[in-house]
Amino acid sequence: MDNWILMAPRALNNQPLGEQTLSAEQVKIKVTYVLLTNFDALCYAGELPVAYPKTIGRFAVGIVTECGEKVYGVEKGARVFIKGARPCGNCLHCKKGDTDNCEDIQIAGQDFDGFLRDFVVCDYRRVAVLPDEVDNFHALCIEHVALAENIYDQLRLPAGSKVAIIGGNATAGVLAQVAMYHKLIPIVIDDDAADLERMRHAGVYFAIAADDELEANVAEATSGMNCDAAVYIPCSKINPDIAARVLAKYRTLVLDGMAPMKF
Ligand SMILES: [Zn+2]
Repeated sequence: MDNWILMAPRALNNQPLGEQTLSAEQVKIKVTYVLLTNFDALCYAGELPVAYPKTIGRFAVGIVTECGEKVYGVEKGARVFIKGARPCGNCLHCKKGDTDNCEDIQIAGQDFDGFLRDFVVCDYRRVAVLPDEVDNFHALCIEHVALAENIYDQLRLPAGSKVAIIGGNATAGVLAQVAMYHKLIPIVIDDDAADLERMRHAGVYFAIAADDELEANVAEATSGMNCDAAVYIPCSKINPDIAARVLAKYRTLVLDGMAPMKF
């Protein structure tokens, strides 16, 4: 039974899991799909701090194969998303029961064991049963979509507002699509031609290169007003200065990412 453990930077070992016993409130899941992302690449390369040794894999879907006797709302055979982020349980917010505002969110593959393994045993509240209309691939993007929706909610922009998204990776793609869904106009800025082409293919009208023409192109896209908000994606490693250059005065700049990057 596979279990891929990161022992140190660039040292990934397959150490088969032994038999795992189930407590009353736990479920056992056969992992069927894991999405590897830039986050795993950064952990693997040693660019993010990892509490070694840790099994990698942050985003996963599986089928429940066993349930403890005090498990509610999850049944054997259910297709589930395994939550890759947990509140710490120790900070002030957690102690007050306000776990949504935890100050030290624990991440799978970094703080606790991730899901690139055959079986996961965990508390039944750490899984979400998937409706039939959400396929496995889209389920793997749940956390990205949730992050994008949260940003949308907090920006409170009226329809038609122009939002710069700086960085053209997968996170940016989800952000742009969520923005369009809510009738905002994304302006994706990146230094990689292939990423920009992918954005255009996904229906993003303004996919602009981070080159000498950037300011002129953004001015044209915004009728000279600049952007109503900017979302900078740190792991894109594009010059963060761009965000300030394309943002109108007194508007909001969001730092968005699945991983904290140090500049
Ligand atoms: Zn906490």
